[in-house]
Amino acid sequence: MPSRFTAESLTTNDTSHWLDDSEQVERRPGMGWTSRAFAGFIDIFFPPACAACGAVTSGPESFCLGCELDLERLPEQHCLRCSEPGSFERGHCPRCELRPPPFARAFAPFLHQGPIARAIHQFKYEDHPELAPTLAALLAREARAFIDAAPGILCAIPLHRNRLRRRQYDQAQLLVQQLAHQTRRTAADCLRRIRNTRRQVGLTETQREQNVAGCFEACGDWSGKSVLLLDDVFTTGATARTAASVLRAAGAAEIQVLAIARAFSQT
Ligand SMILES: [Zn+2]
Ligand SMILES: [Zn+2]
Repeated sequence: MPSRFTAESLTTNDTSHWLDDSEQVERRPGMGWTSRAFAGFIDIFFPPACAACGAVTSGPESFCLGCELDLERLPEQHCLRCSEPGSFERGHCPRCELRPPPFARAFAPFLHQGPIARAIHQFKYEDHPELAPTLAALLAREARAFIDAAPGILCAIPLHRNRLRRRQYDQAQLLVQQLAHQTRRTAADCLRRIRNTRRQVGLTETQREQNVAGCFEACGDWSGKSVLLLDDVFTTGATARTAASVLRAAGAAEIQVLAIARAFSQT
């Protein structure tokens, strides 16, 4: 079965059998089990490295022990809708109370700081596409309960082609492909970015919304389908809101959002 689908070709998704942990971390994409002896040889010269600090690790762990201990997970208390950290009356943060988002729920297992922030930065901006399987395995492990109850169609929040040309790879697409493979879900091209945008970092919430307004279009008709949108970092949710609105307008029944890390966004 191909791992990439369009709205027209999608049927149901087999979400029942995830790959087990030993299968999940493919440190070198494309290397099968028949190449294990060769992989052992390679490990001597290119040993597995921590995704955050680059220190050599003894096995296929994502992080060295020091970085693993520094990981900060999403606090127990967070908005039930968008996972904004904090304790809120009626369970929802002021942003979701004031303007309910077009997605049913958004989740990220980590806070965007420390080793996770460094790993995401390397993956996104420092030419390390090989971190995709490691980060996907981490996400599959840490967000397992969320993913189990989430839609089986996975879609990346896409890059504009100009940025893709500069960066050479679309990190969100790589993450989607890996997560779909590891959790036996379906990766689909639901969205395309039709306008380039500035980076959201450093912009106010209103500026973020203006920056991404009208930047996506849906690929095809998603009538009645439920989609899990995947991004690396979720901050105010401006990008996720825009992407979810476009898919809802294309007929999608429900959108959920998953990111690796959640930044504090309330001021
Ligand atoms: Zn480390
Ligand atoms: Zn919220």
